[in-house]
Amino acid sequence: MTEPDALRLGLVGHPVAHSVSPDMHRAALAAAGLTGDYELLDVPPEQLEGCVAGLRAGLRSGLNVTVPHKGAAARFCDRLAPEAALAGAANTLVRSPDGRIEGHNTDIAGLVAALQQAFSAAPWRGRAAVVLGAGGAGRASVLAAFQAGASEVRVWNRTPERAQALVGELAPKVAGALVAFADPVEAARGAALVLQATTRGMATTVGDPAWTAARDEAARVIAATAPDAAVLDLVYRPRETPWVAAARASGRRADDGLEMLVQQAAWAFRLWTGRTADPAVMRAAAEAALAPEKGGP
Ligand code: NAP
Repeated sequence: MTEPDALRLGLVGHPVAHSVSPDMHRAALAAAGLTGDYELLDVPPEQLEGCVAGLRAGLRSGLNVTVPHKGAAARFCDRLAPEAALAGAANTLVRSPDGRIEGHNTDIAGLVAALQQAFSAAPWRGRAAVVLGAGGAGRASVLAAFQAGASEVRVWNRTPERAQALVGELAPKVAGALVAFADPVEAARGAALVLQATTRGMATTVGDPAWTAARDEAARVIAATAPDAAVLDLVYRPRETPWVAAARASGRRADDGLEMLVQQAAWAFRLWTGRTADPAVMRAAAEAALAPEKGGP
């Protein structure tokens, strides 16, 4: 039976079955000596408002939000932290003592922290970055690239209208040039940072035709970047993503999206509990859950 003061945390998405967030948060709870659990909640769009109302009523202690609900969740919050307001998306909902729901976006801080950790030289400072993708992760990537010091961000998306809409909305709010590009190779020309925020290559198997096709496409884009460019692929399944493989083969430094996932989770944990989570503990739990023998690709 659950203790009365046990934390009831969870991830709301649709679908959510393959998430490693429960593994990370359960490990962090155990390491902090806190009682509680973190569940996966598969919630269709029409039930999201009711789910947030349950948090407001105290049925839960805090929620993470993932695809496709981050934008809608921000609209159901009573107040938004500055980054969530800027992104128009919330991935972490916190219930304040007065029962109001605060929306936060820890993806942005998580990505900035992952960039600092993976690429301490930060070659993109004062230079151009390219963001591939204009979904939720693309928006977070644009804001993170400017926060991390890029002076210009170029956005490419498979559906060009979405890149143009993102640029139209965010350009007045950011400190630097934000431009939409129709061609990914042109967008990447001379860039010092690549943030790969599409689903391209996700859940492929290393070496299979889909993985190889994505790697070859990535290689053409990466070849146009500056020789000292850093490449961060937000995808982390499979453990060697096509973008990371292509970047390393070209001699550029690269990392996948696992550290961002860990860092955004650590920020969320702190917001809910007031306690600092050890990212190394959360990362070890995520890696164990993603290992092939546990069913990860
Ligand atoms: P989303 O809002 O559904 O957006 C999907 C994006 O992928 C869109 O830009 C879409 O382009 C593009 N796309 C889909 N299929 C494509 C294809 N075959 N070729 C090129 N582009 C394609 O999803 P999201 O939340 O932005 O997530 C995007 C990726 O980032 C996912 O792989 C997700 O796992 C990852 N992510 C990682 C973290 C992390 O912590 N590491 C956090 C968030 C997201 P269209 O507009 O043309 O459909």
